Amino acid sequence: MKVAIVGGGLAGIAAAHTLLGDADVSEVHLLEAAGGYGGRARTDSKSIPGFAFDMGAQYIQDPTTNPLTEIAKDLRFETVEEDASYELRVDEDGTWKNVATTDPEVLAVVNGIQLSYNAARAQPNVVVAAKPRFDTQVEMFGHATSPYGPFTESAETWQYLAADRAREVAGDGAENLFVKRGVGTLVAAYGQLLPTLYKDRYKARFDTRVSAIAHAGNGITLTLGTSGTLAVDACIVTVPVAVLGSGAIKFEPALPAAYTNALKALRLGSYKKLALKLRTDPAGIVPGTNYYLIEAEPEGVWQCYRLPHAPDVLVGHAAGDFAAALDAMADKDVFDLFKAGIQSAFDGVYFTTGKAITNWSANPNALGAYSYTAFIGGGPQDPGPLKARSDLGVPLGKLHFAGEATNLQCYGTLQAAYFEGVRAANAVLA
Ligand SMILES: Cc1cc2nc3c(=O)[nH]c(=O)nc-3n(C[C@H](O)[C@H](O)[C@H](O)COP(=O)(O)OP(=O)(O)OC[C@H]3O[C@@H](n4cnc5c(N)ncnc54)[C@H](O)[C@@H]3O)c2cc1C
Repeated sequence: MKVAIVGGGLAGIAAAHTLLGDADVSEVHLLEAAGGYGGRARTDSKSIPGFAFDMGAQYIQDPTTNPLTEIAKDLRFETVEEDASYELRVDEDGTWKNVATTDPEVLAVVNGIQLSYNAARAQPNVVVAAKPRFDTQVEMFGHATSPYGPFTESAETWQYLAADRAREVAGDGAENLFVKRGVGTLVAAYGQLLPTLYKDRYKARFDTRVSAIAHAGNGITLTLGTSGTLAVDACIVTVPVAVLGSGAIKFEPALPAAYTNALKALRLGSYKKLALKLRTDPAGIVPGTNYYLIEAEPEGVWQCYRLPHAPDVLVGHAAGDFAAALDAMADKDVFDLFKAGIQSAFDGVYFTTGKAITNWSANPNALGAYSYTAFIGGGPQDPGPLKARSDLGVPLGKLHFAGEATNLQCYGTLQAAYFEGVRAANAVLA
C-alpha cells in the first residue's frame, strides 16, 4: 500500500511512524509546504543566539500522559518543569504594584466567570461568555478560565461554545515541561528519524504545497503545486483547519456537507509571541513569574516572563482578539508597544540587539494558532461543537483528516496532534 501524508507537523510525523511500523505499507510520501518538519511546533534558534524561541507550542502539557515526554527521553532532549507563579501588574493611581492571581479579589472575579461558565456548559450550543467590554475590573479577566491568570486560550472565552470546552480533559495535574533546546527542535528531530529508520519506504518532500486532491474512485491523486502529481492508495491530510477552510486545497469531488460545515465551525484563534534580549537584569521581573499587564490600545493583556533557564531574554505573549489585532500591525510597532508598556510598568528594563516575533495569522501554512469551535448560529446546519471535530475525523473513503482539531479531548495541543496522526494511520491500516 502506498500512502500520502499532507503536512509534516506532529500529526503527520506520528502518522508516518505508525504507518511505517506496518510491513504492508510499501511507500509513505510526506508532503510539506514549509522547508522542514514541525508545523506549529517550530523553534527559532537563530534570531537570539543561544535562546531557543518556541514560536508555536512550547510546553509539553500533561507530561505523564503525553507521548512527547518519552520521545524527549529517547532522543536525549533535556526538559525542565515550568513551576511558574502568576502576578497581575497593575497601575493603581500612578503606582505600579503586583497583585497575585491568588489574591481573594482576583480569585472572586475568576471564580465568578467559572461559575457562569459551569452553568452554561451543560447546554449544547451556548456561547461561554458575553463578549467583554474593557472598562471594568471584570472585563480585565474577560478570557480568564483558570486561577493562573487571564491568559489561557488562542481565542477569547466568549468565542467558544460551552459544550466544547466542557469536554476538555482536566489534565494530569503535573507541571508542564519545557524542552531546553525547544519543543519545535524535538518535534523536528522526531520527524528526522523517519528517513533514518525507513530509508527505502519513506520519502519526504519539503517546499511542496499540495494544491488539489482528487479522491473519486479507488485511488487518490494529489497535485503538488507546479511539480506534478502523485497517485496513492490512501491519503492523510493534516493541514490546519483554517488552511482547509480557506479552500487552499481543491478537493475533487468537493467535500460533502458534513466536512464543509465542520470547517465553518472549526476556526483557529490567534496567539502571538515575541522575545527580546535584555541588556539589564531588572529586579522587578523575577525569572519564573508570569506577569499580566493591561494594554489600552489595542485592548488586551500581555503576559511576560523570563525563563529561569534563560533569564537574559524577556518573552511576551498575547492571545485571542488582542493577538489578532497585533498580528495586523507591523512587527516594529508591536515591539515598540510592548517595550513602552514594560518600561513604564517595571524599572530598569533595557534591551540589546536580538529579537524575535511570530505572526501565525499571516503564515499561509497555518492561518492562525490553534483550534476552537465557533458559534455559527445554532441552526440546522450547525454541526455543534464536538460534532464538528468528530465529523472531520470520519474517513471519506481512502481520504482521512487528522490534526489537533479532530481530537475531542485535548484539541489545541501537541498530544492531540500526535494521537490523531496515530488514529488516522490505524484507520488507513484497518
Ligand atoms: C503560538 C502557539 C502556542 C502553542 N502552545 C502550545 C503548547 O504550549 N503546548 C501544546 O501542546 N500545544 C501548543 N500549541 C498547539 C500545537 O502547536 C498544535 O496543536 C500542534 O503543533 C498541531 O500539530 P498538527 O500536526 O495538527 O498541525 P501543524 O503542526 O500545523 O502541521 C500541519 C502542517 O501542514 C503543512 N501544510 C499546510 N498547508 C499545506 C499544503 N497545502 N500542502 C502541504 N503542507 C501543508 C504546514 O506547513 C504544517 O507543517 C500552540 C500553538 C501555537 C500556534
